[in-house]
Amino acid sequence: MDKYLSGWQATLLNAMGRAVLVNSVMDSQLVHAMSGLLLPQGLLDELDTWRRDFLWAGDEKASGAQCLVAWEKACQQKEMGGLRIKDLAMKNKCLLLKLLHRATFMPLSGATEPPPKVQFFAWLLVQERIQCRANLLKKNVVQDATCEVCQGDMEDCDHLIFKCPFASSVWASLHVDTTGCSVRQLWCAPCPGAVPEKHSNCFILLICWQLWKHRNGVIFQGLEPSLTRFWMGCREEATLWPGRWPRTDRIVAEAWCQTLSPM
Ligand SMILES: [Zn+2]
Repeated sequence: MDKYLSGWQATLLNAMGRAVLVNSVMDSQLVHAMSGLLLPQGLLDELDTWRRDFLWAGDEKASGAQCLVAWEKACQQKEMGGLRIKDLAMKNKCLLLKLLHRATFMPLSGATEPPPKVQFFAWLLVQERIQCRANLLKKNVVQDATCEVCQGDMEDCDHLIFKCPFASSVWASLHVDTTGCSVRQLWCAPCPGAVPEKHSNCFILLICWQLWKHRNGVIFQGLEPSLTRFWMGCREEATLWPGRWPRTDRIVAEAWCQTLSPM
């Protein structure tokens, strides 16, 4: 199995792609072995360590810094904020009990999903694990958590996405009422009035992704906060994302572009 996965050129894959591989390789290579016998716990632990290293760091050993989310969390069901990396010991038991039904890895199964790096961002965001300044302060990486876009409040995840005056003006332009919205319940955010309800979660994620990119531009490139640049970035993404979608769904993205174009 070691040889098999290094052959996948692990370093070229992003974490999301690796998550798919961790599952699919396990399915194809280990299911047969585990169906017939209960593997010793020591071996299962070793395999889990090895799979975790692979998920976070490709060929290199995973360090704490690269493990943005605990392995136990990654093993949880996706609805619970996990990537559904299968827990080997549990899987082994399930197989033996003949309870296994093949789980599909949801994030890549729908053709109208955002790009994998954005899905991964969303996965971190709903768990409030993106590296906003409040989180960096907790890890003692920064001494001060003030938002650099507004120089106002502490930059936690909800501030960055909803409460920062810059973010508020973005949502207001889209006629989205963000009262009571939080990143923990990102999928409960109301659909912007001007875009089709179909794939509206995807549109909301596009806005969140752009808010994150805009914020990074301010912090790391010293750019001034700019709504003009923000909307330009949104339009660029909105033309790129549907490239992977079925033709019939591209009309949705055209509606997005129309919504974004007067901004
Ligand atoms: Zn702010």
